[in-house]
Amino acid sequence: MADPRTEFSRRTRRSRELHEREKSLIPMAVVGTVDMPYPIYIAEGHGARVVDVDGNEYIDLSMGFGCHVLGHAHPVVVEAVRDAAGRGVQFGIHTPAQEPLARLVVEASRCADAVVFCNSGTEATMYAIRAARAHRGRTRVALFEGAYHGAHDAVLVKTDEDSARNLPRAVAKGAGVPRTSVEQVLMLPYRHEAAFELIRRHADELAVVMIEPVQGSNPTLACRDFLAELVTVCREAGVLVLFDEVITGFRLAYGGAQEEMDLQPDLATYGKTLGGGMPVGAVAGRAEVLSRFDWHRQAASGAQVFSGGTFGGNPVTMSAGVATLTHLKRHPEIYADLREHGRRLRDEIGAFCAERGLPAQVMSAHSMIHLRFQSGPVRSARDVDRRFAAAEKEFYTRMMLEGVLVPGDHLALTSAAHSTRDIDRVIAACQSALEATRGLRRAA
Ligand code: PLP
Repeated sequence: MADPRTEFSRRTRRSRELHEREKSLIPMAVVGTVDMPYPIYIAEGHGARVVDVDGNEYIDLSMGFGCHVLGHAHPVVVEAVRDAAGRGVQFGIHTPAQEPLARLVVEASRCADAVVFCNSGTEATMYAIRAARAHRGRTRVALFEGAYHGAHDAVLVKTDEDSARNLPRAVAKGAGVPRTSVEQVLMLPYRHEAAFELIRRHADELAVVMIEPVQGSNPTLACRDFLAELVTVCREAGVLVLFDEVITGFRLAYGGAQEEMDLQPDLATYGKTLGGGMPVGAVAGRAEVLSRFDWHRQAASGAQVFSGGTFGGNPVTMSAGVATLTHLKRHPEIYADLREHGRRLRDEIGAFCAERGLPAQVMSAHSMIHLRFQSGPVRSARDVDRRFAAAEKEFYTRMMLEGVLVPGDHLALTSAAHSTRDIDRVIAACQSALEATRGLRRAA
């Protein structure tokens, strides 16, 4: 097959038409799953598979950007949503639906005495930062290069690639982010000792150090020692440390990265799996920080932190979350399967690349897998080899033609619904796409 884009465009006419029709009406970025000017549109998803509007079926490795650890349309989740929706989807006023999910989170999350629900990971990190600022009486927030913590101004930064590796400089990610927001960020080098010295030096300005315990852009479990030292350094410096478990929570292990790595931050944020696919976010953490959200009790002291939102804690989301977590808790074998499937993808695709001398390697942390196109070591987001950018695009287009969908950020996520045969198929698809990708053959 000469140009995979030609074949892909032949197979996805309806998606192209839909995009043409709506692109000025809904001016959002094309999700860059493949190197095409239009995205594919999904008609439905069941288990480990999605079907697009042209009728093409894919083994899905996006899983709603990580929401569906149980797979698409899992019966326990669908049933819980139907049942809750039949009794009214949202009231604004309290319902008994929050408490069971809050108890599950507090039980699973090592740092959590209490939890506040909202509607997305973005809201969760926004509220967590506000609470940390109120608690510490400081405003700056330290983030690591390569991290993603959502779409609000306080975290929409990236590293200026011209800045020194041990002293990364934050710049706005996209237009419209005020300079004052960027100035409030202390950018830290990821998995680099210099981060600890920067935290110590700026401790008096910092409210919180935020970290994805496993970076979505750079998944590995080899970061455990770095995380452990980070927690110690923050404790000694008197700065709060927050694990953003929006992806890792209830995915890496039932108790997330905190359980997997046996670590206890001060705060943790959740999203994705927590809502079983319904929009959700949560801030969890130590009572003394979380109690600041208790508007009435804190009002007299002036220490209250605002949280709100019309839809936060709505009964449909809460019920989907309870159904998902209860199922995961009752079936610990799901986590063993996720590990085994992740191990196979890492080892078998990794061995294939090594045997053929392809400039590609698999980064992984159980069910979080990222095929990186570069031959040198990968430590942080800085280690990107742009020579293979075109080959990477071609590879992912070929993966789609092989019937495997990897999301645009190239973080592949498996679920309990992926069978051993699905994993066999993903490995075979990956091997044949790697073999066919022209830029890689030349490099090898
Ligand atoms: N934090 C992390 C680690 C994430 O991966 C994401 C989303 O991918 C977010 C926060 C933002 O979550 P949401 O997309 O629900 O706003």
